[in-house]
Amino acid sequence: MRDYKFCPLCGTPLQSGIIDGKRRGYCPQCGFVAYKNPIPSVGAIAIRDRKVLLVKRGKDPGRGSWAPPSGFVESGETPEDACLRELKEETGMEGVIKGLIGVYLERTKIYGEVLVIIYLVEITGGELKAGDDADDTRFFHKGDQPKLHFSCFRRAIEEVF
Ligand SMILES: [Zn+2]
Repeated sequence: MRDYKFCPLCGTPLQSGIIDGKRRGYCPQCGFVAYKNPIPSVGAIAIRDRKVLLVKRGKDPGRGSWAPPSGFVESGETPEDACLRELKEETGMEGVIKGLIGVYLERTKIYGEVLVIIYLVEITGGELKAGDDADDTRFFHKGDQPKLHFSCFRRAIEEVF
């Protein structure tokens, strides 16, 4: 998360004060306020033949643990685009968005607060193959699922699976 010391608009050193009820950095010259916001990310819950698609994460946060395909929304793409891109990158599978399951707030050590937008996805094709950011990818039956590191994914899967 960005932590400004100087105003990104006019270069004046920021001061600290209470703005909108919270302590924040602000610019005494031009009025810029350094609001802090969670980072938007997406997750894909893809179910096929009564099994859910998971990825063994090759990167932090949650390295080595299993999770649905997920990642950050990049500038220039919609959350739906990001969701299907991460699905394809991490698992080799192609899909279409069937609906929004929910929007969750996850607190991570590395990135701070992450807003996780989780979609239900229908697999339409592709070949199952773990991508560069993943150590493994597999479909799991409900009873055989590994424990998931992030509570947002546990909650989202429970909604639909
Ligand atoms: Zn300024």
